[in-house]
Amino acid sequence: MSDSNGHADVLVIGAGASGSVVAWRLAQAGMNVVCLEQGGWLDKDDYPHRRNDWELQRQLEFNLDPNERMRPEDYPLNVDDTPINPLMFNAVGGSTIHWSGHFPRFKPSDFRVKTLDGVADDWPLDYWELEPYYDRNDALVGVTGLAGDPANPPRSVRSTPPLGLGPVGEACVRGFEKLGWHWWPADSALLSEPFDGRPACNNCGPCDLGCPTGAMSSAHVTYWPKAVDMGVRLVTHARVREVTVDSRGLASGALYFDENGDLQEQQASMVILACNGVGTPRLMLNSTSSLFPDGLANSSGLVGKNLMFHPNGFVTGIFDEDLQSFRGPIGALIHCQEFYETDPARGFVRGFQLQMCRATGPLSHALGGFTSDPVPWGARHHEVLRERFSRNFTIGAMIEDLPEPHNRVTLDPELCDSDGIPAPKIEYTLSDNSEKLVAFAVDRARELLEAAGAHTVLADPVVRRSGWHLMGTARMGDNPAESVVDKWGRTHDVPNLFVVDGSVFVTCAPINPTTTIQALALRTADWIADNHQEIPS
Ligand SMILES: Cc1cc2nc3c(=O)[nH]c(=O)nc-3n(C[C@H](O)[C@H](O)[C@H](O)COP(=O)(O)OP(=O)(O)OC[C@H]3O[C@@H](n4cnc5c(N)ncnc54)[C@H](O)[C@@H]3O)c2cc1C
Repeated sequence: MSDSNGHADVLVIGAGASGSVVAWRLAQAGMNVVCLEQGGWLDKDDYPHRRNDWELQRQLEFNLDPNERMRPEDYPLNVDDTPINPLMFNAVGGSTIHWSGHFPRFKPSDFRVKTLDGVADDWPLDYWELEPYYDRNDALVGVTGLAGDPANPPRSVRSTPPLGLGPVGEACVRGFEKLGWHWWPADSALLSEPFDGRPACNNCGPCDLGCPTGAMSSAHVTYWPKAVDMGVRLVTHARVREVTVDSRGLASGALYFDENGDLQEQQASMVILACNGVGTPRLMLNSTSSLFPDGLANSSGLVGKNLMFHPNGFVTGIFDEDLQSFRGPIGALIHCQEFYETDPARGFVRGFQLQMCRATGPLSHALGGFTSDPVPWGARHHEVLRERFSRNFTIGAMIEDLPEPHNRVTLDPELCDSDGIPAPKIEYTLSDNSEKLVAFAVDRARELLEAAGAHTVLADPVVRRSGWHLMGTARMGDNPAESVVDKWGRTHDVPNLFVVDGSVFVTCAPINPTTTIQALALRTADWIADNHQEIPS
């Protein structure tokens, strides 16, 4: 075992959306940063877009589900006790490799759920403390959209203008206008014009297979090139087994398996976890020692608990008109936050967002697209495929999940990854509140599609493959007995150990989390840059 990278000021574990931010910012502050990432860099030729079998790759190498994809860098997950599978990508860029780039911000009310509705907890910070970091992050990554939504606080002019509605957006707006529901072009982490040396989106469509042009603002094309230029040493194919601690209970680095499967040590003065809402609690629970027998920084017993997913219903409308719905980015077109806040008359608390999604190629249509209703095989196959292809789009009805301790990530007693590291087990049930919320949201999506003119509506109320947002498993708070990290992302138990991914979320709002994850990571990095002399090491 060797310490081949030398002692680092900062060790970041995980090179996804959040790890990229802190690595870049702390290198900018003059610190010596090493990042360990279990995946590798994807080259533009690695993406399937130009191959004849490109659509098949959705079932294979670019499957959203790591249990089905099983690339060497993926780890298995036990999903026997959850109706929703966690989805992720393991590479430089993390899950932003195959995300949709929908980039909405939390609203001020999202930080005050306990005060407003008497459920869950309030955050230890408010929207206005985070607002400058949202703006800074947007300007760094490149966001397409239109400032001025009266339903949200003001924000800076977006990096590039909206991509345009196209026939799908126009059909959708027809429905909104008929129903009188507020809608707005969604903030999207992708480019409609060249920006920062990257090209505009070419509307090719299948963003879930990754973006080979670099128009999608994924972490491997936004922060990482700058971080590496600034001197961050990014070690790929380095899978961390455990964070090490010294006799004083301070983090001292990590043990990891390199690409040859050899165990290596990286020493550091401070450790930052950025492995996502499943990978981070897994690593903390795997980091046991005589000082931390129940897992690192787990005196509250909350590491791994309060997992939130954003249960998601997909509702697809089929239209007579040709909507050209295979053209253009899959997500990130329009959002509707008409039903965002609690209305006691509905019989549940909190709310949801409706998010417009386009469709993609013929194979995904044949397999049902976003619904669990495939085109039938046999005599009617071509007829039904013609009826659907290019003539449908989907509304994602994404609800706010509330934190519940029994929804959790633990370590599976038997399942391990290819390096023999215990794998996570996911236990999750939908609460009564979530069941009611998602049913109401799916009904509203149906109503919208009918108002827009759909002749057929297909609904999938709780989509199994929809655990794309992983949050809550090392929650933030002022009270060490009720939270894992403080308002700066620093663990209560280990003063030189930080968490910057979605694990720190107290509640999750009914919207995509990554702009909030990155804004929080930037805020934590600023705090470390200003205070690192006082952090014990
Ligand atoms: C299909 C899909 C669509 C999505 N669409 C959107 C969207 O439209 N909008 C939005 O806001 N969000 C979206 N998301 C979610 C978004 O991708 C995540 O919120 C974001 O990437 C989380 O950032 P992160 O840094 O916490 O984790 P990740 O980006 O997942 O990065 C974690 C990294 O840590 C590495 N890692 C984990 N464990 C270890 C270990 N032991 N050793 C070394 N490395 C390790 C992983 O390999 C990975 O690269 C989507 C996600 C998916 C899967």
